[in-house]
Amino acid sequence: GDLNVKVPVDSKDEYGKVAKTFNDMTFRLREAEDARRRLVADVAHELRTPLSIMQLKLENAQQTGQSVPPEMLLRLHDEVIRLGLLVEDLHVLSLAEAGRLTLDCKPLDLSARLEQIVDDVKMEADDNGLEISFYSNTRPITVMADARRITQVFINILTNAIRYTPEGGKISVVIEDKVLDLNAVYTCVSMIDTGIGIPADELTHLFDRFYRVEKARSRHTGGTGLGLSIAHHLVRAHGGFIRVESEPDQGTTFTVYLPSGKYNNN
Ligand code: ADP
Repeated sequence: GDLNVKVPVDSKDEYGKVAKTFNDMTFRLREAEDARRRLVADVAHELRTPLSIMQLKLENAQQTGQSVPPEMLLRLHDEVIRLGLLVEDLHVLSLAEAGRLTLDCKPLDLSARLEQIVDDVKMEADDNGLEISFYSNTRPITVMADARRITQVFINILTNAIRYTPEGGKISVVIEDKVLDLNAVYTCVSMIDTGIGIPADELTHLFDRFYRVEKARSRHTGGTGLGLSIAHHLVRAHGGFIRVESEPDQGTTFTVYLPSGKYNNN
């Protein structure tokens, strides 16, 4: 249908009110339609590159009639993995954006979980010449959370910290219980890196899907551009929020605020 119709509103009577409501509705419909169109365009764009790489390599192998060399198989496998991750991320994101993400919240010792997560990414940090450490002001720190989903939040943010911090840098993960903010009590997790940072004017777009500060750089490092968007939705679903502070060439701090559960508020 044509969503560009606009009923002229020139009377203050019932007809005028109906016309105004109609125009407001059309506006919102058009916004939703634009968002849907953008998403489809973004997804098509993201799928195109890995698919065309795979197509080219396979066609090449077919034409030369030779068996596919192992390093090419490896490369093809990488692209398939990337596509799989992208599809999985898109699935979570579409559920979250539709408000249909179901959480399985249970009391979770977040300090223990974080220590485990830091341990899990240590090897990747090592490989990149980075030091990563974990600090907790008290233990245990219990929050109501969906363990699997909240783990994804921290993995997404920490993977970025590793990706966007040059060799020799340092990443610190700090968990603090009972932080007062906006007159409510939160459990806060700060992930501080000494990396390349993010320019101030880019900070507002950071949580938009497929947003990358510098496209070429990010594609090279293999991200999907969905990590922060997903983290944002998952934390919101838990009743929390994320803040970010950054200084180009100095580093970035992401802080996740989760409401302190009744389990640690007594
Ligand atoms: P990607 O998969 O591209 O990393 P994200 O949604 O996870 O997508 O992040 C969006 C963009 O934010 C990244 O492309 C990068 O430019 C920037 N970014 C995220 N985390 C950091 C960080 N710790 N330091 C510098 N830039 C970052």
